[in-house]
Amino acid sequence: MALTWSISRDQTLHTCERRYYFRYLLPARINSRNKTLREIAFVKKVTNIPSWKGRVFHSLIAGYIRRICNRDEIPLTDLLASCRRQMQKQWKSSVTNSSRSNLNSISRENPFLLLEHLDPKESVPENMLDVTIKDVENWTEKWHAWANSMNIRCILGNSRVWVEPSGGETTSFELEGIKVVTKADLATLTQQGQFSIYDWKTTSPTIRPTRWITQEEFQAAVYQLWPHSRLGVPLDAVSAHFVYLGGDSLELRSFKVDKNMQDYTLSLIRRSALRMQYFSQIHHDRSQSTIDKTSRFTLNDLDFAYSEKVCVGCQFKHVCRKELENA
Ligand code: SF4
Repeated sequence: MALTWSISRDQTLHTCERRYYFRYLLPARINSRNKTLREIAFVKKVTNIPSWKGRVFHSLIAGYIRRICNRDEIPLTDLLASCRRQMQKQWKSSVTNSSRSNLNSISRENPFLLLEHLDPKESVPENMLDVTIKDVENWTEKWHAWANSMNIRCILGNSRVWVEPSGGETTSFELEGIKVVTKADLATLTQQGQFSIYDWKTTSPTIRPTRWITQEEFQAAVYQLWPHSRLGVPLDAVSAHFVYLGGDSLELRSFKVDKNMQDYTLSLIRRSALRMQYFSQIHHDRSQSTIDKTSRFTLNDLDFAYSEKVCVGCQFKHVCRKELENA
């Protein structure tokens, strides 16, 4: 089967082999016979507060952009009010679900549950919901002011537009049998042939390089190769812009790709894909082994995250150290 590669999949493998194993390799199902697999399938449906607010924000902005495209824009105050209602409803649902004991019914009928509510040892501060909503409102207000300043209505009205989540068509390109999925938050192609890619970041820019280039430069380059490879847009007509909302004020970073950067980026994707294929192959080979069960691929074959800090917000932390030999 062809490998699907994405920035998030690469980051997962880069951050923690065990998390990659839980997320992409184990055949975990809610109705698995094995208890550990059932638990893993369950926690895959759980999210933590930082991921939740990021998801709410991205979905809010995607909906807002679609409304502008459909000439059905709503005022910022209405947008924020509907966001607050939605978050309050989901929070209530999470609190209710956390008190249930039947994991199957939670995941099937009431899918929303926050990791922080699942762990009885972690007490959630009383004002946490308000603080979380405030963060999303803060990002939204900053984004809205920036969008107005760049005249987003005019850009959207005069371009072909892609918005994530797309709800269907996945933006991607092929690289030697690898499907490289690119999910930028917004992309526009003007009538003059200029292709602009935008991504909303709820953090501040990072400066720590993870390879010879920063993670942002790598992500921006991968995104820019999509219109070039798939739609034939010349590289010099493509640009990417990351909008950082996590600091006191909004920060914008712009990126371009030249031929050297294209070659380097493709080599990084190839190397990352090879590592993914290696893990898939040994997992597959060993799980098929009927001769020697001791040779099966287990958690002990995999590294922990590089820092325990990463484990704190990890949805798999409750099952991470259990043995999976009989999976
Ligand atoms: S708890 Fe830590 S080591 Fe285990 S999967 Fe999560 S990030 Fe990796």
